[in-house]
Amino acid sequence: MPAHDAIVIGGGLVGAAIGYGLARRGAKVALLDEGDDAFRAARGNFGLVWVQSKGAGVPEYQRWSRLSSDLWSDFAAALRDATGVDPAHERKGGVNICLSEGEFENRRRIMEQIHLEQGEIAFEYEMLDHSELKRRIPAAGPEAVGASYTRYDGAANPLYLLRALHAGILRLGGRYAPGARVASIVARPGDFRVDAGGTTFAAPKLVLAAGLGNKALAPLVGLDAPVRPVRGHIVVTERIAPAIPLTQNFRQMPEGGLLLGDSQEEAGYDDAVSLRPIHMITARAVRALPFLRDVNVVRTWAALRVMSPDGLPIYDQSREYPGAFVASCHSGVTLAAAHAERYAQHVLDGVLPAALARFAGTRFHVPHPA
Ligand SMILES: Cc1cc2nc3c(=O)[nH]c(=O)nc-3n(C[C@H](O)[C@H](O)[C@H](O)COP(=O)(O)OP(=O)(O)OC[C@H]3O[C@@H](n4cnc5c(N)ncnc54)[C@H](O)[C@@H]3O)c2cc1C
Repeated sequence: MPAHDAIVIGGGLVGAAIGYGLARRGAKVALLDEGDDAFRAARGNFGLVWVQSKGAGVPEYQRWSRLSSDLWSDFAAALRDATGVDPAHERKGGVNICLSEGEFENRRRIMEQIHLEQGEIAFEYEMLDHSELKRRIPAAGPEAVGASYTRYDGAANPLYLLRALHAGILRLGGRYAPGARVASIVARPGDFRVDAGGTTFAAPKLVLAAGLGNKALAPLVGLDAPVRPVRGHIVVTERIAPAIPLTQNFRQMPEGGLLLGDSQEEAGYDDAVSLRPIHMITARAVRALPFLRDVNVVRTWAALRVMSPDGLPIYDQSREYPGAFVASCHSGVTLAAAHAERYAQHVLDGVLPAALARFAGTRFHVPHPA
């Protein structure tokens, strides 16, 4: 039976980032992943490292997202140096384009709320009116009434990121087991045995980072992760000359193609492409940037986001089986640096800090009225 210091279930962005962080701190890690039969959000995302608009009403979430964004440059450099794979991180700031006065006012309200809630830590943002937006993005059309901007926003290549994290774990002596769907978990405090892919893995620490799979796995170790799928579509255009800086819905890749996205639909576990969201995404893109009317779409895909009931991450340690942790979120690119550089250390310490208490799975245990 291979003995490890930590078993991480789920080789997507959340599990791989935590596994890499554990391995960097000297832990012998086994990263178990079901494989292509599973829903894998990490292979279908937009690649934003996005901070603005995160955490209105939940200042802890804004701080956690910003911390991750602050850590990202060093995290990316260390990954590149260790593995030779560059996650192509950039942090040049980002804008969220508003297409009506109502959207613009709503945006202003959200940004102001976050600013007030951050108190002394501050949250610097700008609201750009139409003429200022035009100055920064000359391609913006007349319907783009304005935008919000923060310098905290950026992007990375999510597939290179995933590859680098897997390579990093292997370089640091860890094991990556693809095709290893977890069949059973035998749990005792500080002693976990996991049957997966015909092998039994043993370790004193266990991290559940199986995306949508966490919902079924968490109760096996006394945790709760009531996540559900929320479908998102992404549309890719042909390559064009550099045209726009980073926005929340439109991202130009270094090679020139534009990613258009940010749709959210309740579609159960159906991850098939459907025409309605594609139409909505492209129609919005043309309203914001009219030149896109003449740009061809070359491909599109849909993938399932990992969403908790309140949209916030879930981080917790089992009270029944200390040593078992859960990590779920819908921003696995944004939070990759915090997962590797902070959450992994908390797992090794055996204690989650007060700053993460807001994200405990027990927040969903609200008694129903009789
Ligand atoms: C369309 C779309 C756009 C997105 N855009 C962004 C973005 O711009 N920025 C951002 O930060 N985030 C974005 N995300 C979210 C990001 O992709 C997810 O937060 C992240 O991938 C979730 O990672 P995860 O590791 O929790 O889940 P997943 O990537 O789904 O990985 C879970 C893994 O667990 C494995 N697994 C499941 N069950 C088991 C089991 N029983 N045994 C063993 N293994 C198991 C699966 O094989 C899978 O590989 C987007 C997501 C979507 C769908």
